[in-house]
Amino acid sequence: MAMHFPNLPERVAEIRDRLAAASSRGGYGQTVRLVAVTKTHGPEAALEAWEAGVRDCGENRVQEALPKMAAVAVPVSWHLIGHLQRNKVHELEHFVLLHSLDSSRLADAVCEFGLKRQLAVDALIQVNTSGEATKGGFSPEELRIEADRLVGMPGIRVIGAMTMAPLDASEIVLRQTFAGARHARQVLAGAGHPATELSMGMSNDYEIAVEEGATLVRIGSALFGARDQ
Ligand SMILES: *Cc1c(COP(=O)(O)O)cnc(C)c1O
Repeated sequence: MAMHFPNLPERVAEIRDRLAAASSRGGYGQTVRLVAVTKTHGPEAALEAWEAGVRDCGENRVQEALPKMAAVAVPVSWHLIGHLQRNKVHELEHFVLLHSLDSSRLADAVCEFGLKRQLAVDALIQVNTSGEATKGGFSPEELRIEADRLVGMPGIRVIGAMTMAPLDASEIVLRQTFAGARHARQVLAGAGHPATELSMGMSNDYEIAVEEGATLVRIGSALFGARDQ
């Protein structure tokens, strides 16, 4: 069968090389998981990524993701990387990790779901370290309070932090943003959470993110080409 993304294996190989090189340059010695962002593409994107050796795929909207995920016959680990509405928290059963826990109200709903199913939901706290008003997530001040509050919420397992850098930011701003997320992870760990993960880096900035300690990169267009939407 013809592939929809014929150069995907080469792109995956090149990105893996760049991830390894960036990790050794950065000096954090972390292994980095590649999350292929399949949003706006059909199920074949995930299937062909799987055939190229990628085991993790990311979607940013539940409504778009669910039918696609149902159409992918291989056991991809699905990540939810975009904003989740509180009335959809039960859909977290289809995802291995929520990258975008971005408010206390969402945390309450996620915790309730985790308690109900008797299995804590793995989540990353989204932090807004660049200070952009349009970006979701916790400010550094809010994070300190939320980190302590979440310790008492056994329906959520906080395994790290996530951030999105501003588009077209300078390298200095990118590094500040990513260092801010690294610090947020430290705040979470200091509060007693098993926070080891750092989800940061997209197609245009993933090498810098990995140099700054990323353990999960979310890459779409560098794998599947530019999106129309
Ligand atoms: C779309 C998206 C990505 C991937 O963006 P690319 O620039 O195509 O790599 C990563 N993270 C989130 C949250 C996204 O919505």
